[in-house]
Amino acid sequence: MKIAFLTLGCKLNYAETSTYERGFVSAGLEVVGWEEKADVYLVNTCSVTERAEKKCRNVIRKVHRISPEARIVVTGCYAELRRAELEAIEGVTLVFGAAEKTNVVPRTLELLGERAPVADEQDILRAYSSEERTRSFLKVQDGCNNFCAYCTVPYARGVSRNIPIADAVSQAREIAAKGIKEIVITGVNTGDFGRTTGETFLDLLKRLNDVEGIERYRISSVEPNLITEDIVDWIAAGTKFQPHFHIPLQSGSDEMLSRVRRRYSTGLFADRIDYIRFRMDPIPGTPQGNLKPYVFFGIDVIAGLPGETEDLFEETYSFLKDRIKPAFIHVFPYSRRPGTVAAGWKDQVRDSVKTERVARLEALCGELHSAFVAKNKGRLSRVLWESDVKDGMMGGYSGNYIRVERPYDPARVNEIEDIIL
Ligand code: SF4
Repeated sequence: MKIAFLTLGCKLNYAETSTYERGFVSAGLEVVGWEEKADVYLVNTCSVTERAEKKCRNVIRKVHRISPEARIVVTGCYAELRRAELEAIEGVTLVFGAAEKTNVVPRTLELLGERAPVADEQDILRAYSSEERTRSFLKVQDGCNNFCAYCTVPYARGVSRNIPIADAVSQAREIAAKGIKEIVITGVNTGDFGRTTGETFLDLLKRLNDVEGIERYRISSVEPNLITEDIVDWIAAGTKFQPHFHIPLQSGSDEMLSRVRRRYSTGLFADRIDYIRFRMDPIPGTPQGNLKPYVFFGIDVIAGLPGETEDLFEETYSFLKDRIKPAFIHVFPYSRRPGTVAAGWKDQVRDSVKTERVARLEALCGELHSAFVAKNKGRLSRVLWESDVKDGMMGGYSGNYIRVERPYDPARVNEIEDIIL
């Protein structure tokens, strides 16, 4: 039996697909590429934008045209939110929603007449990715209770819940045993870790830090109000956690933040960034001041939220340009998602305006990223070399997430090297 996988959307989906893949492989199925002939095709869908959903429908139709006899199994956020829409597409055999993820492997094997392993009864799918040799995404948390006005995640993935710290540690050990050196801690609202088990996010970080073989960690994304001073102080004191923070801002206007029900103000956001910089950036004039790299901040922003006037957009633009000055901006145009509060608001922003705002923020991102790279020139950082080769060059990321390249040398793959940026 052959199985092919296609993953759309976020790193959490990739980690989950990797886990499904390990389940099917241990049941004896052979994994083939998406474009090859398979007995079953598994699509892990995304619903974050209308475009993402359209892509899901298109790939399913295409695979059915090419392999009409194959079984098509669909899971992920789109499957949870609009199951009937997917079930109506010709060729789709099974659809698994958010609460059924632990059934994906056993039910599909049942369908294929294969023996199913014992189903995992837990309501959170333990997942990590392992297709990369150097880095793995470890899922520690799922779901969200925040219900921001524009977001489908609480509907698609359910309430906030997490795996126990002991489980995260044992999965990190499994990852280390594969020779992988870097883990990105992933969740929907990762900083909310501990809600189900009464543990704390800081304790999770401390216990993971002790796992032998894992040499560095990054945190995929943390809400600004959940990055406490305790966490920053601990990371700054010298841990395997890299000077790299991915933080959603979404809007730099307090009016917009409050309207879309975010749980912080621009003042709190700026305070958190200042505190991280205060604790982790180099201090000029000190012995390490000339060599220590600066902290990388990647900031998520949504352009064209309903009600975002030109003035409110300008507030976001100048907050980023003049106050926060991040190393990178992840820009997303607002997508009107059915079922969310913001979808019903009358003051939607025209697509052409969204496109123009995205372009302005992307141009700003280019300037800020170049300035960040220039500021780090001559500073010392540790690079983990990756296995991809392009035009005879290999690449890797410094601790503060600057991409560097060198001529390909297979002996350096998965090695960490001190380099001057
Ligand atoms: S915190 Fe993030 S995942 Fe949760 S509802 Fe808001 S945007 Fe969605």
